[in-house]
Amino acid sequence: MSQQLTTEQLLHAAEKFGTPLYVYHIEKITEQYQQLTQAFSNSDVKIFYACKALTNINILKHFHSLGSNIDCSSINEVKLALHAGFPSNRILYTSNGIAFNEIEEAQQLGIHINIDSLSNLEKFGKKFGHSYPVGIRLRPNILAGGNLKISTGHDKSKFGIPTDQINQVISLIAKYDLHIQGLHIHTGSEIKDADVFVKGIEVLFDLIPHFTELKFIDLGGGFKVPYKTGDDATDIVLLAQKVKEAFDAHPVAKDLQIWFEPGKYLVSECGYFITQVNVIKETSATTFVGINSGFNHLIRPMFYDAYHRIKNISNSYGIEKKYSVVGNICETDTFAWERKLNEVREEDYLVFYNAGAYGFEMSSNFNSRFKPAEVMFAKDDFFLIRRRDEFSDLLNHQIEV
Ligand SMILES: *Cc1c(COP(=O)(O)O)cnc(C)c1O
Repeated sequence: MSQQLTTEQLLHAAEKFGTPLYVYHIEKITEQYQQLTQAFSNSDVKIFYACKALTNINILKHFHSLGSNIDCSSINEVKLALHAGFPSNRILYTSNGIAFNEIEEAQQLGIHINIDSLSNLEKFGKKFGHSYPVGIRLRPNILAGGNLKISTGHDKSKFGIPTDQINQVISLIAKYDLHIQGLHIHTGSEIKDADVFVKGIEVLFDLIPHFTELKFIDLGGGFKVPYKTGDDATDIVLLAQKVKEAFDAHPVAKDLQIWFEPGKYLVSECGYFITQVNVIKETSATTFVGINSGFNHLIRPMFYDAYHRIKNISNSYGIEKKYSVVGNICETDTFAWERKLNEVREEDYLVFYNAGAYGFEMSSNFNSRFKPAEVMFAKDDFFLIRRRDEFSDLLNHQIEV
């Protein structure tokens, strides 16, 4: 049974905590995590939750309790992971153009590190040489993912060491006696086709003979989840089968661990973003529904043209009409254009689905508006896990001179 919060539960949360409000359903995270681990149970797979999707400390603690590992994209995320109780050997820092001092800090904390540039690999070799095994992030020159903004493996992408520079990597290994224990690729987000992962595997397999101390192949994240009914998702069972076939058939890879770093797959569907309607504005072009939010709270529709399903939970049986849902920010912040919704009235609550991943996490205080509160639903109860900003927060770090 797929875990979902009901309209009544969401209305209750809106009344109790006010809006705009992010709600996370903990059992849904458990369900997604277990689906993944079950699908891959016949391979030596480790799951690292890509925590940049949602870093609330209570969510991180929940992943820790599930036995998950964690993938971080900044040294601060590493520190949050430690704070949540993850031991250092379950933390991975996959770097992306970061300053070397963050890599030094990560080394001191004893966590796994994937290095993504020749420059940092050389600095790492000079300083730590053979004494600290590392992984390298490669760029396989594969175009994949929902759109160019979320595609990270193609030949114009900044991410990773291009595979055509492999000879320079090999020279650095020899020069500094580096111990490369893993090869990493992350080709993008919203990859529904299992064959993209297989292509990535083939690129990495070609490189395996250059490395004699490998322990893992890290295939990154990017599994697609459905955002609307009828949407394709990554077929995880098929993916697991194809990955197993590929690894089993390879003389070296069959003994390597397989790492994955899913973010969206684990937390997208657990999240609901509840807003309230401020104004309805009839125009000749469309009927605008102006809500008490904007791209300062949920930027995916404007930044990626992402589709988020919206429901009027205050009038579930109202006559369907077309509306354009917009924010209250002094920018064009259109959440949906000419979308069918049950009749919308001022003060109705509208909920956005799939709001768990890259929702709150990408929010800001633009227009000096408050960031939303966050609530978690666990064990049949709602818990406030981040209070809404208040006015003093806006002045908190400013210095009046
Ligand atoms: C963002 C990111 C992920 C997670 O991507 P999703 O699309 O959320 O699964 C995994 N690995 C790395 C290195 C990332 O930067």
